[in-house]
Amino acid sequence: MNPVLDVRDLRVEFPTAAGALGVVDGVSFDVGPGETVALVGESGSGKSVSSLAVLGLLGRGRIAGGSVSFRGEEIAGAGPERLRRLRGAEIAMVFQNPMSALDPLFSVGDQVVEAIRVHRPVGRAQARERAVELLREVGLPDPERRMRSYPHELSGGQQQRVGVAMALACDPELLIADEPTTALDVTVEAQILALMRRLQREHGAALLLITHDMSVVARMADRVVVMYAGQVVERGTVAEVLSAPTHPYTRALIGSVPTVHTGRDELLTVIPGSVPNPADVPDGCRFHPRCPQAVERCRTEVPPVVRTGEGRISRCWLAEDAGRVPAPTGAPGTGAR
Ligand code: SF4
Repeated sequence: MNPVLDVRDLRVEFPTAAGALGVVDGVSFDVGPGETVALVGESGSGKSVSSLAVLGLLGRGRIAGGSVSFRGEEIAGAGPERLRRLRGAEIAMVFQNPMSALDPLFSVGDQVVEAIRVHRPVGRAQARERAVELLREVGLPDPERRMRSYPHELSGGQQQRVGVAMALACDPELLIADEPTTALDVTVEAQILALMRRLQREHGAALLLITHDMSVVARMADRVVVMYAGQVVERGTVAEVLSAPTHPYTRALIGSVPTVHTGRDELLTVIPGSVPNPADVPDGCRFHPRCPQAVERCRTEVPPVVRTGEGRISRCWLAEDAGRVPAPTGAPGTGAR
């Protein structure tokens, strides 16, 4: 089946006083109809920038190469009018902080009605009816009354439910959720994730989920794309990657998630150091200063993208040393399918 979203060899740059700075370097992934794909990595890995590039929301940044295909249409470099029609109607976004995504000066009802009417030729009464229905669908109690509430009158979880309602207002084919539960406490997080999963299935939308949390990946996604320092370092199905990760960074991310078996006094595994500044990425493997398995070659030679299984890749010398097949050339930056 053709993917809803197909990103290939994407490169994104931001202008700086010292010249253009590449923050996304040859990233490839796709999302099929009704599928959930997670982009995972620490802050600075390039996952959010990659997703914002899809919607042309890069601010001063620009797509410097590669392609972004939505339902077969190239949208990298699409004009402002096409992007405006895409956003909300065909591709919708759920943001990390619902309070900053909602306008504090307008009631919840007005904002959901507006989200519908911007893209659908319906009258105010019909849009209002649909808005009440959506608020009910996302589990807000007494939706008629909530229509008159202002964002500050809602809890964080309720605000994010409104964010999800607005994203689904026009039945988009692709939903992009950028750390949608980071600002919420753990019980509300579970509720919002369950809500998104249910609504995604009911609406049949594809979901691109941006997260730093492997436990969220395990609960939500079908496939996972692990990013580090602007590149994809591992990709595969969630079941395979979580049970048998081939890249040391993926293993470290998995190891840093506390489990129910983690004792009260037990220290969590941490990944030493931090993601490199894009202006100063290390030679060789970008992960080598933090990698517990780094060898001399990792410090000087860029590791190849290696196919580690059906639909799986890993950017690591260990994967190649294990006899895995290098991904085809012409698909740099993990373009191998
Ligand atoms: Fe670690 Fe070397 Fe693999 Fe990089 S290439 S992840 S440094 S083992």
